[in-house]
Amino acid sequence: MSTTPSSHNGRLYIETVGCQMNMLDSELVVAALRRQGYTLTGEIADADTILFNTCSVREHAEHKIYSALGRLRHNRARRPSQVIGVIGCMAQKDQQLIFQRAPHVDLVVGTGQLAQIPELVEQSRVDRQQRLAVSLDRRDATRQQVSDSFVSYDPLRDPEMRPSPFQAFVRIMIGCDKFCTYCVVPLTRGPEQSRPPQDILHEARRLADEGVREITLLGQTVNSYRSVSDGRTWRLSDLLLALHEIPGLQRLKFVTNFPRDMSDDLLQAVRDLPKVARYLHVPAQSGCDTVLKRMKRGYTVGEYREMMHRINATVPGCAVSSDFIVGFCGESEESFQKSIELVREFRFKNSFIFKYSPRPGTKADDLLPDDIPEDVKRRRNNELLAVQNEISEEDNARLIGSEFEILVEGLSKSARKQLTDEPAAALPLADSHDEHPQLVGRTRCDRIVVFDGNPRMVGNLVDVHVYDCTPTTLLGTIVTREVLHTSTDGLPILA
Ligand code: SF4
Repeated sequence: MSTTPSSHNGRLYIETVGCQMNMLDSELVVAALRRQGYTLTGEIADADTILFNTCSVREHAEHKIYSALGRLRHNRARRPSQVIGVIGCMAQKDQQLIFQRAPHVDLVVGTGQLAQIPELVEQSRVDRQQRLAVSLDRRDATRQQVSDSFVSYDPLRDPEMRPSPFQAFVRIMIGCDKFCTYCVVPLTRGPEQSRPPQDILHEARRLADEGVREITLLGQTVNSYRSVSDGRTWRLSDLLLALHEIPGLQRLKFVTNFPRDMSDDLLQAVRDLPKVARYLHVPAQSGCDTVLKRMKRGYTVGEYREMMHRINATVPGCAVSSDFIVGFCGESEESFQKSIELVREFRFKNSFIFKYSPRPGTKADDLLPDDIPEDVKRRRNNELLAVQNEISEEDNARLIGSEFEILVEGLSKSARKQLTDEPAAALPLADSHDEHPQLVGRTRCDRIVVFDGNPRMVGNLVDVHVYDCTPTTLLGTIVTREVLHTSTDGLPILA
C-alpha cells in the first residue's frame, strides 16, 4: 500500500481542548498536514479529515469529545472517505476503548506518536483500516523503554500556523514523574524528559528570525528542567540566560512550575534578566496539609509559604498565579476554608479553580472514594473563585494611575467579535475599519491590558497608562510623550 501523501488532500478540521502543550501539538500537526496539501476549515461538515486533540485531565473534557464523536456517526455514512482521528492524551489513555465507543473513528494516536499522523491519515483513507499508535504503558516496561516510546514532537516550525506571528510556545520537556494521586499526565505524556538545550536554542533562534518576540517555554513541571550537555548540567535558569541573548526576542515566559522545584537560581534569573516575565504560575492545589498529603503533592502549606517568601524577597512585585482543586477526596469544610485562607494570604494574580473529578488509572481513583457531592464541589468552586476575583480586582485597582510597558498581542476579544470569530493574529489587521480598534497586550507581570491603538503596534512594546480595571483586565490609554526635539537622524526625542 502506498503511503506517499498526495499533493491535494482536501480539508482538515481540528478541534483542540486542554493545555498549552495541546495547543502547541495542534499547531505542529496542522503545519505537517498543510505541508501535505491540506487546507484548514472551520466547518466540520466540510472536512475530509477531522482530528480531535484531546485532554484527559477532567472527565468533562472527555465526555465532550465522546459526544462530538457520536454526532459524527451519521455524517460519516454520508462521507465514506472521511478520516476521523482522536489524538493526544485521551488517545493514549483510552486506546481501544475509543474504537469500541465510536467504531467510526479511524485513528487513535497518542501524545508520543504525533509525528506519524500524516502517514496514518493517508493509510487509513486508502485501506479504511483502523489504526492505533500509542506509547508503552508505564507499568509494562522499563523506564528507558517507556521513555523511548514517547517521542517529543518538535519539527521545524511553520510560522503561518501560530495563533500569533509574534508569540510562540517552545516545548522544553515532555512527561512528568511527580505522580500526584489525581493526575493522569504521567500516564498520558510518559516519563519526564528534558529536550537538549541546543535543540531549544536552535528552535528559538529560528522563531526570532521569523519575527517572534515572545516565547513561552512549556513543561508539565517546567522548573524541573535538567539536561546534561557538553559535560555541564543545564537548569531552566541557564536556558533563560542563553535565550535572553537571542536578538529580537523581547519576552520570555515559562509554565507550569512545581512548588518544590522553585530554586533560588531560577528566581535570580527572573530578577536579573529584563526579558523574563516577572510572573510565575505555581499551583498550590490546596491550602490544607492533609489534602496535600492525600494528593501526594510533596510539600506542606508551610513549605509553599516559604517558597512564596523567597519569591517575594528575591523578585519584588512578581505576580504569582495558582491552581486549586476543590472537592478532592475527603476534603472537609475546614480543609476547604484553608484554601480560601491561602488565597487571601498570598493574593494570587489569578487562580484556575477546578472541581475534582476522578481519573481512571490514577492512585486517587483506585484508592480514595470520591466522596464530596457535586453540589458541594460546585459551591466551593464558586466561593473560592469569588474570593480570588475580589482580590484580583482590589490588586488591579491599586495599579490604576500607573504606567506599564506592555507587549501588544493583537485585537482585543471585543474588537475581534466585531469582525469575525477568528484568532486575533489570523486577522488581517488591515481589515479593521476602525483606525484605532481596541487592542490587547500584557505587562511584564502578565496582567492583561486593553486600550485603543493603532493595529501597527501589534508585536511591539508600548507604554500605557492604566485608568480603570476589572478583576481580570486593566483598561489603559497609550502614553504619548511630548516631542522635545528631533535627533540628527530625524527620530523624535521624547520627554
Ligand atoms: S506535577 Fe502532579 S499535577 Fe502536575 S503534571 Fe505532574 S503529576 Fe500532574
